[in-house]
Amino acid sequence: MLSTMQDVPLTVTRILVHGTVVHGKSTVTTWTGEGEPQRRTFRETGLRAVRLANALRDGLGVERGDRVATLMWNNAEHLEAYLAVPAMGAVLHTLNLRLPADQLTFIVNHAADRVVLVNGSLLPLLAPLLPHLEPVEHLVVVGPGDRSVLDGCRPAVHDYEELIGGRPTTYAWPELDEREAAAMCYTSGTTGDPKGVVYSHRSIYLHSLQVTTAESMGLDSHDRTLPVVPMFHVNAWGLPHAAFMAGINMIMPDRFLQPAPLAEMIERLRPTHAAAVPTIWQGLLAELTARPRDVSSLKQVTIGGSACPPALMKAFDEQLGVRLCHAWGMTETSPLGTVAQAPAGLGPEEEWAYRITQGRFPASVEARLIGPDGSVMPWDGASAGELEVRGPWIAGAYYGGAGQEPLRPEDKFSPDGWLRTGDVGVISEDGYLTLTDRAKDVIKSGGEWISSVDLENHLMAHPDVAEAAVVAVPDERWGERPLATVVLKPGATTGYAALRDFLEGRVAHWQVPERWALVEAVPKTSVGKFDKKVLRKSYADGKLDVTRL
Ligand code: AMP
Repeated sequence: MLSTMQDVPLTVTRILVHGTVVHGKSTVTTWTGEGEPQRRTFRETGLRAVRLANALRDGLGVERGDRVATLMWNNAEHLEAYLAVPAMGAVLHTLNLRLPADQLTFIVNHAADRVVLVNGSLLPLLAPLLPHLEPVEHLVVVGPGDRSVLDGCRPAVHDYEELIGGRPTTYAWPELDEREAAAMCYTSGTTGDPKGVVYSHRSIYLHSLQVTTAESMGLDSHDRTLPVVPMFHVNAWGLPHAAFMAGINMIMPDRFLQPAPLAEMIERLRPTHAAAVPTIWQGLLAELTARPRDVSSLKQVTIGGSACPPALMKAFDEQLGVRLCHAWGMTETSPLGTVAQAPAGLGPEEEWAYRITQGRFPASVEARLIGPDGSVMPWDGASAGELEVRGPWIAGAYYGGAGQEPLRPEDKFSPDGWLRTGDVGVISEDGYLTLTDRAKDVIKSGGEWISSVDLENHLMAHPDVAEAAVVAVPDERWGERPLATVVLKPGATTGYAALRDFLEGRVAHWQVPERWALVEAVPKTSVGKFDKKVLRKSYADGKLDVTRL
């Protein structure tokens, strides 16, 4: 028997229209560095998005299904594109401005982007690639920047404000199928070519609802969120669309992502929530320790993208009174997978045990662990396996290219359609995930697994350690052994033996590394994660000064 309910598509169009009218007074504030921040209401932003849709269709000939790329910082104009492009039936493709030139070129060509909206400050990065970006017909330059680098380039060049200025503030939105593509994002691609994940209107809509639930980020129109996480990194973790849906005020950092301007932004604009990867919060902690600022407005900070060292969480608790909330997700999971909100009714210590996990699965994300023999492992907090997930905002395939079938590589999707995350961990009886490693980062020492993340977390709890990354290196006797690379805090002189002794008693004796190297900084990926591939290569190339204890 079928229901008697209406079958109304869940679309970004709905989010745009609703946010503009019902949450018209909410604001988006973009940091501009020296001058006054730029402030716009959602009503102004929504109407500018409608103008943009008109400009893209009537001015540039964008049609339903066409890809419109953005090479932009987090700012109000980027939010306009987030809303306008999907609502008109085109596909928003956010480009990661930190990717190497060859990968950016591959991505733009693979997605066949017809239009690129680009911040003026990023033109020097884009201009040299243009001769290789065949499908791009139009460049729309947003904000100030030296445009002379575009002289003689093939695509037509437009100014954003001139293009949208004077366009109508109404648009006959197309009736979209909720399963149509709304946005796409390529994975950072540590191996092989980057792979495109294509989000649907439905997945974005449902994911936006999830962002606003209390078990997730729990935000509403009383909040001001500061997404430091870039809008090109899994849609800034879903915050822009959720914001327009629920009237959450936005504070956009634009290109000012260094600790000092972030600290100033927090003190002046008083966000109640912020979101970023651990390296950003590490930097901010150092900044705030050196130059204290008032960050008391922050009620909650979402931290994820790589494991949050418990020591960092503790430092935020104790030194700043700011609660870091750990979350896990991937480009393929939109990204909300788990969020570590502790269950009700616990004392601080019991709560702590939950807060340092990667978090709890919501109803819409089903999870299972696949053990080394291929069997499904129990949720007992001890049995480890590779995490597989499925749900309405989880990718079921990658984009195959125009006119091509979607790709379902075996190492990424199980035969019954679950996403293979490549993350290894355990799940507790009550559904909290604890990750011990990426499958490819696990250290296999004499038939036993050593968690690199565990060693890193302990090392980073040492008062003299700023950062620590542990990788597997070949070992004649044990197959693999851990190599600990450590960044000491300025002025610290702690030796390797002291660090080794610090680990003794905290982890099993046989897990303690005997190979150590001091580094100036841990290499980072384009989205700010530890780049262990680079570390392994430096070791293989003999570029690290390794001491063996
Ligand atoms: P990306 O698609 O670039 O966002 O990368 C996704 C990957 O980042 C995941 O598969 C994890 O390996 C890692 N990751 C994300 N969040 C966390 C977390 N809270 N703890 C540990 N690893 C994480």
